[in-house]
Parts: sequence; C-alpha cells; structure tokens
Amino acid sequence: MLFKNINILSCNGEIQKDMYLAVTNSIISYMGKTAPTETYDRVFDGTDMLLMPGFINTHCHVPMTLLRSLGGNLSLSDWLTTAVFPTEAKLTEEFVYYGAMLGIAEMIKCGITSFNDMYYFSQKICTSLLESGINGNIAMDGFAFDDRLKNKYSIPASVLYDFHKEFNNKNNGQIKTDMCIHAEYTSDPKKVEKLAEIAKNTGSNIQLHLSETQSETDGCIKRYGKTPAQFFCDYGVFDNPTTAAHCVYLSDDDLILLKEKNVSVSHCPISNLKLGSGIADIVRIQQSGINVTLGTDGSASNDNLNFLEDLKTSILLQKGIHKDASLLTSRDIVRIATKNGAIAQGRNNTGEIAVGKKADLFIVNFNSPNLQPVTDMLNGVVYASLPENIVLTMANGKVLYEKGEFKTIDIESILANVKEIKKLLYSN
Ligand SMILES: [Zn+2]
Repeated sequence: MLFKNINILSCNGEIQKDMYLAVTNSIISYMGKTAPTETYDRVFDGTDMLLMPGFINTHCHVPMTLLRSLGGNLSLSDWLTTAVFPTEAKLTEEFVYYGAMLGIAEMIKCGITSFNDMYYFSQKICTSLLESGINGNIAMDGFAFDDRLKNKYSIPASVLYDFHKEFNNKNNGQIKTDMCIHAEYTSDPKKVEKLAEIAKNTGSNIQLHLSETQSETDGCIKRYGKTPAQFFCDYGVFDNPTTAAHCVYLSDDDLILLKEKNVSVSHCPISNLKLGSGIADIVRIQQSGINVTLGTDGSASNDNLNFLEDLKTSILLQKGIHKDASLLTSRDIVRIATKNGAIAQGRNNTGEIAVGKKADLFIVNFNSPNLQPVTDMLNGVVYASLPENIVLTMANGKVLYEKGEFKTIDIESILANVKEIKKLLYSN
C-alpha cells in the first residue's frame, strides 16, 4: 500500500510535508519526497491528513468494557470490593472474549495499535487479538492473590507457564505474554516472590498497579514498614522489566529505585481522577529519568478507551498543577503515548515512523470543522481532535479500520452479544 501527498510525524518529532510512504507486508518499506518506482496494490491520497505512529496504551483491562460505568462515584477500595470484584466473579470465558472484542474495536477506532492488559481468561483475550489484528502484551491476573481475598481465586503457576508457551511471540510477536501482580494490597508476599521467579524463568515483563492511592501507600508502610515500590523491589519483582500503573504517590526514594531498576510508569490520569485517587506528577517522574507512558485503565474507571482524551487530560493536568504551560509540549505527550510505550512493552520495532519499522500507524484527517485552520498539526491532534477525525488505523501492515468501518471485527455481532451478556450479568 502506498500513501501519497501525506504529512508524516517523523521520529525526531518534526512533521514532514507532502510525503510518500509505502508499506510492504508488515513493514514501512519507503519514505520520501518523490514517488517510489515500485507499483503498489493500493494508493491512498493523504491530502490534508497526518500519518502518526499508532498509540500504545500501557494499562488496560480490556474486557472491563462489560463493567463500563459500574460503581460511579465510589473510591477505589469501595469500587473494587462492592462493585467490581462481585461482578467479575460472574464472568465466563465467553463473556471475556466479547468484552475484549468490544474494547479492541474502541481502541482501534482511536488510533491504538498496541496495548498492555491484565485480566482473567487471558487465552480468550489473545483470541481477540489474533482475530482483530491489534498488538498486545497480555498478562494473566490471579497468581499472586492473597487466599483470604473475597471473590478472588488464585491460579496455579502451571497455568502461567502454559499460557506463556502457547501465546508468547505468537504471530511474529503480535502477542507477547507478560506476568501480572494486581497490587501489593491484594497479594500474598510469598506468591509475589514466586511470580518474580516465574517471570525470570520465562523472560517475561511484569505489569502491576503501584501506589495508586494514599491509603494503599500508607497501608503498605503500616503492614511492612516500606512503600509499595520498596515491597516489590525486595521480592525481586523489579529484576524483570516492569510497567507500574498509576504511581500517584511516589517518595523521592521510590523515584531513585524505579530509575535504578528501569521500571516504566503507566500514567492513567482519567482513572485516577474518576476514583478520586489524585494526580500523578509525571513531570517530576520524567525528570527523575524514568520512562513515562500513558494508559487508559479499564472501562469501569475511565469510562472509555478514547486515548485522545487521555493525552489531553494528562497534558492539561501537568500545566495546571505546575502552573507552567511550557513544561510538557504536544510532542512530549505524543512521544509518551507512542515511543515510550513501545519501550515499556519491549517492542523496539514500533512506536515511530521510519523505514524498517513495523507499519503500526493511524491517520488523522484535518479537513473537519474542529481541525481547521491548521497552524500546528500536533497541537491540533492533542488539543482539538476527536476520534471521528481518525480515518484509518493499521497494525502489522494491515488496515484494521477505515472511515468508520471495522475491517476485521463484525461489530454488529459483537454489540448484539454484549447486549445479551449485559442481561445475564446484571439481572439477579
Ligand atoms: Zn488498572
């Protein structure tokens, strides 16, 4: 496929105008001011459009679309124990598949080409990835749960090993399997230590929630005399590549620790605001040399997977809390939402537009009332764009979504199934 007359966000953060970009198989094979000599199956005219690297959502629980808006106005602790955990106990493999397909459709529509996920029945989430074509680092939750936890049952290590064996690097790395620890406050320390060992044995990344609320952080200090970051570090978790979601309450020592251990942070501003958890100071975290990335979190605390909202919210929050409009630019936040996410996922072949990189990308059409006139295209994307401006999303060189149409997902069938599931989940 050849894109012509198109503007491209290149890897140095500059926009190159009126370019040609070709995709051969799953790779960006050509970029230049002049037309390539080869012929292509399809030519796409990108006049008034911007081609960008696909967004990377580094924190999600994709089947939680089925719990969308559940327990609104509750704090994290009440939301989890009275709304989320009891509903999750009713989920089946089939429900998880449809919830994941629904969430993936929403993500593709918003320019996301790869995501991190921690949930249950993760085999079914992998099936959704293979059918839809999106990339993902999929972690199966449940191993490290404290047995005393109500409505939660832990899974044995053999399930994790089998999952890793079946799905890791599936379809040329479209799927990577990660390991998961829900959080310090739901975990048995012995199992946390064991999970760190399993991650080491399988060469896996770890995904977890870290210092999301003040009470979580205070509770951990009370229980163990250390912060959640120190807790995980002491059990060997950070000896594996780790992405820690939230990180709203990090001490100065935690920052030094996360930097030293190369932990990536997944900033989830909308989820943190909705649950009244607080605001993570990502400028401070970045200035400590830590890789900051962006996440939506699940649809029960966001409540959508529209990544454009997360970009805009995060940049506005930092300007607001620091009373400084210059601290974080559109280029900075787009890098956080793309390249930094790829680094966290351990995917060095994506996250930017360059020859030889994987064709994971999306296209914004500026010929729209909310995006005219254009003075700075990137500012337009971050501050003014809407999902309807995204006219094409491609992952691994394959068009997944174009002009309102899903190419790999039968969205009518998914929506019909989700309506039936809703009746089963929420009738008594
Ligand atoms: Zn989460």
